[in-house]
Amino acid sequence: MNRLIVVSNRLPFALDSTGEDLWTVTPAVGGLVSAIEPVLRERGGTWIGWPGVAGEIPQEPLAKATRNAGYKVVPVALSETERAEFYYGYSNEVIWPLFHDLQNFCNFEPAYWQAYKQVNNRYADAIGRCAQPDDFIWVHDYHLMYVAQALREQSVGRKLSALTFFLHIPFPPYDIFSKLPQQQLLLHALLQFDLLGFQARRDVRNFIQCVRRVLLDAKILPRRDLQLIRFEDREIRVGYFPIGIDFDSFENGARSDSVEQRAQRLRVTFPGCQLILGSDRLDYSKGIPERLRAFRTALERHPELRGRVVLIQVVVPSRVEIPRYHEFKQRIDRLVGDINGRFSTSTWLPVQYHFRSLERDDLLAHYRGCDIAFVTPLKDGMNLVAKEYCACRIDSDGVLILSQFAGAAEQLKPGALLVNPYDVEEMADAILEAFRMNQAERSTRMKRMRRIVRKENVFWWVDSFLRAGAKIASRSLRGVGKRRRSAALNTFRKTGQHQDRPLDTKKAIV
Ligand code: UDP
Repeated sequence: MNRLIVVSNRLPFALDSTGEDLWTVTPAVGGLVSAIEPVLRERGGTWIGWPGVAGEIPQEPLAKATRNAGYKVVPVALSETERAEFYYGYSNEVIWPLFHDLQNFCNFEPAYWQAYKQVNNRYADAIGRCAQPDDFIWVHDYHLMYVAQALREQSVGRKLSALTFFLHIPFPPYDIFSKLPQQQLLLHALLQFDLLGFQARRDVRNFIQCVRRVLLDAKILPRRDLQLIRFEDREIRVGYFPIGIDFDSFENGARSDSVEQRAQRLRVTFPGCQLILGSDRLDYSKGIPERLRAFRTALERHPELRGRVVLIQVVVPSRVEIPRYHEFKQRIDRLVGDINGRFSTSTWLPVQYHFRSLERDDLLAHYRGCDIAFVTPLKDGMNLVAKEYCACRIDSDGVLILSQFAGAAEQLKPGALLVNPYDVEEMADAILEAFRMNQAERSTRMKRMRRIVRKENVFWWVDSFLRAGAKIASRSLRGVGKRRRSAALNTFRKTGQHQDRPLDTKKAIV
């Protein structure tokens, strides 16, 4: 039976040194880990990634941290320089801004590409060492787009039944992608996978357009579900698989007494006001300054909102060691100061600003307690905050103002107020529309969105991707016997909703 090998930039936990021979292990939380771990445990498999420490990997703490995982963990060692040039460099100064349509933020330093290939080769080596023929490889995200090419160069790729990839961030349109000095090399590398998964239809469209314009030898055969590309005697399938959330865990969490009490406390802190929530990682793709400017415009243009709305903006610190992020935070600080300075009264502060991460119950209480979610990234692969907000609206109320450039907009457009995040006046009007929206309309819209988020949850996402991959695996096994082929198809059928976690969700000392 096929084993699943998951490959991602980081492992689902991070090791951190707290002194001589003392290590803490912090498990990653989030939908992706809780969706993929049960599949690995049930079917047997391996997770390959970086354990969070540069340089040599401490073997004993790693062994202790993973002994109950139920699947094999293979760490990839990276030096400080490699992390700098591969992660901060090519991944986050080239691919991240470019793929979010922000080409002016790119630093196309040639050395970064060499480091990117070198590190992708390192991940491919790790796969090569532990993969067996017929293994199903699932590589994740923009850090590792060169892995299949590296595997094929090592001739390991040929023996694997399915070499698959999922891009969590958007894929840009040709006019933007064509700025990339390595455009041809990168597309060539991506076409070494057998299945390419994207978040949204628009990403598939953009990718196909780029292949058509850049790789003239590639033949594109449109299909109803998965697109087919013929390239260098191989067939590559391309499709969209919008990632979901663990709906039940958010809904149940939102129903708990602790969350209910915290949400109630939040509401009574701002009597007579509708609460608007913004919650993002500190990142220039999230459109935080534009959102603050829209809120300022709303207060300028619509005096009825003054003293009647509060924007709670949570900014989760992220990549603060990068100077650009630091400057970006200062811009946000200044805008918040400006709005509060201009509009606050002795009893009302328009923006409540938190520069920190909220613990889970607090985050859920904010989802439950805020009347409006204001989710306006300039571009986003999906945006899970939008979906989590819907899952926590257990009374089917609340309004979602959503950027038309978030992947989530394709699924949530029947219920959300869609806005262009570059248009501050339109966003200001959307705030007024949300503020005035009656309960009946709020409820109809929210019910529509909750239905979609509940159905197309993270387990559905894993299942659809693995089913698509299993079909490819079974095709590549044609001619090797019926039993192995049907095993490939059955391999991933039993994905399900598992709540038990092998790694404790709290930080542990090992
Ligand atoms: N989040 C969190 N703590 C916070 C605010 C947000 O853990 O204080 C989580 C949130 O629950 C969501 C994730 O951060 O799952 C953000 O995911 P999203 O897709 O919206 O954006 P990303 O940060 O991945 O670009």
